[in-house]
Amino acid sequence: MTIHADLRSDTITLPTDAMKQAMVDAELGDDVLGDEPTVIALQDRVADLFGKEAACFVPSGTMANQAAIRVHTDPGDEIITHRQSHIYLYESGAWAAISGCSIRLLEGEGGQFDPEDVDAAVQHDDAHYPRSGLLVAENTHNRGGGTIWPLERLRSVTDAARRHGLRCHLDGARIWNACAASGISPADYAACFDTVSACFSKGLGCPVGSIVVGDRDAIHRVHRVRKLLGGTMRQSGMLAGACLHALDHHCERLADDHRRARRLAEGIETIPGLTLSSTPVETNIVIFDVPGCAEAFSDRLTEAGVRMFSIGPSTMRAVLNLMVDDDGIERTIEVLQELARA
Ligand SMILES: *Cc1c(COP(=O)(O)O)cnc(C)c1O
Repeated sequence: MTIHADLRSDTITLPTDAMKQAMVDAELGDDVLGDEPTVIALQDRVADLFGKEAACFVPSGTMANQAAIRVHTDPGDEIITHRQSHIYLYESGAWAAISGCSIRLLEGEGGQFDPEDVDAAVQHDDAHYPRSGLLVAENTHNRGGGTIWPLERLRSVTDAARRHGLRCHLDGARIWNACAASGISPADYAACFDTVSACFSKGLGCPVGSIVVGDRDAIHRVHRVRKLLGGTMRQSGMLAGACLHALDHHCERLADDHRRARRLAEGIETIPGLTLSSTPVETNIVIFDVPGCAEAFSDRLTEAGVRMFSIGPSTMRAVLNLMVDDDGIERTIEVLQELARA
């Protein structure tokens, strides 16, 4: 059966031929012994991009976030984050299992919140209560629909957190999408935070790889937690080579994913029965509601050659990625029209 478009996630991308060549050509060493030249080059380049002192290359976005959480907290601390954040919903409860933390959840449209919400969530300094230790924000916000934090709003919530003595971490799995769409630099976003995680295996199209940036001390400790979590790698320059290639060749093209996401959203808006729930579409994620059961809708879509996940009883999510072209999106809109009629 022909697959017209695979919109399940931006993680489904296969490395391009040029990326594979970059992996083969990468100069290699042993990262554990500290002489992996391509990993060192990637870490230096990304630390620089984010205006931080250092970076640590890790296997996954989950490890990046959870290593940062472990570094910023003590057991018994409370983390403040949005109720739809990835670290809360989709990381196996690792904040509890690995760092021994509890979590306090904030409300807010599109995965965002205000400084007053942070003020209200921070616990008084009293031995009865968990100590509020860390604020985690997410940009772009996955479950919120690929939304971009306005820089001023982001700064106002991290300023509030700092007034209460909290540390701040940004889950920037899709920070590249935020930067491509807003024109704001990684360093401007990162300036609000002690640490930032970023993924190469999402929109940038790499097979593996994420990174944490921060000051030298924080990254030294992230490096130790990576070892503790079993995330040590050896000739990881093969992977870092793909990431360097992606930074050179796959950042600007994210604008194409964003344009196609808007086109898909326009198409969905004209189809009776389908309702966009993420408007306006800001980056590469489109969330919409269908009449009836989303899981059944997803099965029918698959039969018609369009792959998409349901993320709620009647909610679907489409994620644009570098394997989907203009044609794929036009076919997707046609298939949605046919299914909505049926
Ligand atoms: C995918 C994702 C992660 C985790 O990345 P993995 O590499 O799958 O562990 C973290 N945060 C957000 C917002 C994500 O979308």
